[in-house]
Amino acid sequence: MRHDREPNPMDPNDRTPGGGYPQEGRVGLSPGLSPGLSPGLPPSLSPARPAGRRRTVALRVLALGVTAATLVGVAGAMHDAPPSAAGASAADASTAASAPDPTLPAPVVDMSISRQSEDPGKTVNLTIDDGPDPQWTPRVLDVLARNGAKAVFCMLGPDARAHPDLARQVVAAGHRLCDHSVSHDTAMDHKDVAYQEKEIVDGRRMIQEATGGAPVDYYRAPGGAFTPESRQIAAAHGMRPLGWNVDTRDFERPGVAKIVETAKAQLRIGPTVLLHDGGGNRAQTLEALEQLLPWLKDNGYVFSFPRR
Ligand SMILES: [Zn+2]
Repeated sequence: MRHDREPNPMDPNDRTPGGGYPQEGRVGLSPGLSPGLSPGLPPSLSPARPAGRRRTVALRVLALGVTAATLVGVAGAMHDAPPSAAGASAADASTAASAPDPTLPAPVVDMSISRQSEDPGKTVNLTIDDGPDPQWTPRVLDVLARNGAKAVFCMLGPDARAHPDLARQVVAAGHRLCDHSVSHDTAMDHKDVAYQEKEIVDGRRMIQEATGGAPVDYYRAPGGAFTPESRQIAAAHGMRPLGWNVDTRDFERPGVAKIVETAKAQLRIGPTVLLHDGGGNRAQTLEALEQLLPWLKDNGYVFSFPRR
């Protein structure tokens, strides 16, 4: 089986079978970070580059200086990056639209992983995963509405089915829907294609039934565990595979200030922000949104959606 999991196999929005999130032991770069970061990495961070001539070294130092400013904000996130994170190849492979597999249904939308905005300019795409949740989703909808913000809600099929009123409220408020599978199986990319297809197609059907047939525009694999096959299956059902650039790690509940700081800093990498309205106590995420959304507006960001 082919794999095109994003660089970090660890899920930033994992749910264990027990329903909680693993809180410790995560290593590696966030799946969304490397793809956005790698094009800007200074050559000096490339592990494969041998020591060169003095002029090359000087240029490298210059390049580092130039790019250092843009990297300051993500230094904290980079410290645990594996050496391979500097290589763009893995990220490119996961993002690129590989040739469709003729044995699978033909894609009707782009099957590469979307992370960029459909609008030009200084944009932000909020993506909110693992709901809908009766405790948190209404509050998230409220803070978004008060700030004129829009978002993509990546829902789990069974949760949409359990709370169709919430799923409909999301649609009525002008937000977009994303299929986040049935089981949130972050090892999905190691399972056979029939299993992946069932997780994707059933999740979409549950969301559509809950919303009375609203379009489901995106598919986000649990933990970014995409495969070429899962991307094609999603795209054959009209769902663009959806990645992210900014991983606030809000699922770890690092504190409101940390979530806000991380989002502000990593927005230099790219516009698509990962947050959660399900899977646990999301009070920190909610308060972070209260602070972040006005800041985004004050700093000239326009709320957009990821490209389809
Ligand atoms: Zn998730």
